[in-house]
Amino acid sequence: MVLRRYLRKNEIMESLFNFTLEELQTTLSLSKNFVAKQVWNWLYCCGVKSFDEMTNISKQLRQKLVEQYSIKRPFILKDLTSIDGTRKWLVKLNDGEKIEIVYIPEEDRGTLCISTQAGCGMGCRFCSTGSQGLTRNLEVFEIVWEIILARDCLDEWKNISKGIGNGRKITNIVLMGMGEPLNNYDNVVKALKIINDENGMAFSNRRITLSTCGIAPKIYDLARDIKINLAISLHAATDEIRKKIMPIAESFSIDEIMKACSVYAKSTNYRRITFEYIMIKDINDSIAEAEKLVKLVKKYNVPAKFNLIPFNYWVGCTFKEPSDIKKIMRFAAYITNARYPCPIRLSKGGDIMAACGQLKTSTRDF
Ligand code: SAH
Ligand code: SF4
Repeated sequence: MVLRRYLRKNEIMESLFNFTLEELQTTLSLSKNFVAKQVWNWLYCCGVKSFDEMTNISKQLRQKLVEQYSIKRPFILKDLTSIDGTRKWLVKLNDGEKIEIVYIPEEDRGTLCISTQAGCGMGCRFCSTGSQGLTRNLEVFEIVWEIILARDCLDEWKNISKGIGNGRKITNIVLMGMGEPLNNYDNVVKALKIINDENGMAFSNRRITLSTCGIAPKIYDLARDIKINLAISLHAATDEIRKKIMPIAESFSIDEIMKACSVYAKSTNYRRITFEYIMIKDINDSIAEAEKLVKLVKKYNVPAKFNLIPFNYWVGCTFKEPSDIKKIMRFAAYITNARYPCPIRLSKGGDIMAACGQLKTSTRDF
């Protein structure tokens, strides 16, 4: 099994975070569904760190769990807090690979930004993760780990019976960390089903957002498999400009992406799709581009909202941060006037390199 490659010799135990609830029941040969639910509850509602804490589970089953399965967490290499409250963890996986997880607290929500790959192979020219290249896909348990670990570190387990907005710290999950989620499709979808399960972590579809650079065929698969929020890293209104900043534009045109988006929107009962648009100085920030963006979403009749993200600079990148906030505001106003929401998202956690596009682990830890 692929997973075992990543485990050290004395750790040949499969993570229990690899299974859906149904799989847990069959894997553990449990004749009763409620026993699987009890184990699930200990894992995902109580956050136990040892099988001994599963006090309502028979000794026999606990023994089997201890001998064959693991519920250990990844090793935390760094735990940083920004002056604005953003928190970032650098964690080491079993094979030594590193990934980053970011928690962004805001007034009305707390967003956990998780990774789906170690590095990324898409090579977008504005993205620090892209400059690092792809090392490997994350396993299902490694994606689930990110939320478990954040809950451990935020002392969140005691809050999870409290409703959203009532003391819960992590209210939203966004797949906007390292990696291209649709290039690790099977593991990502399975992890989302675990995260989404109403008997466990219970993050509803509306509180999970998957962001993609636009792997068009996989958007159709997603429409079939799961109904989460979709965000497209568009960043340009024409293929010509897109090709200058994102190599993936050579494989999939904006037309193909928009067609897939209209099918996806239909599958979620016309929930709005978010189009992320990084404002890069003198590349894509003219008002003419805003006009083209509006025409584009109208042409394909996609229910849309935009997120304008001023480009975050990182050392080695040739692009420049926009210097004129008024220009960004005019761009946003044009789109808003066309009746598409268009907030300007000022990234948080810049002082700890946790802002959008700044995650990178290969050449330095922080
Ligand atoms: N691979 C996926 C998800 C991870 S990237 C995707 O590309 O959508 C998450 C978001 O950060 C994307 O919208 C991405 O375009 C944005 N981003 C990347 N580099 C950035 C930078 N330097 N400044 C601002 N946003 C950036
Ligand atoms: Fe990969 Fe997304 Fe960065 Fe592009 S923006 S390199 S797809 S992580």
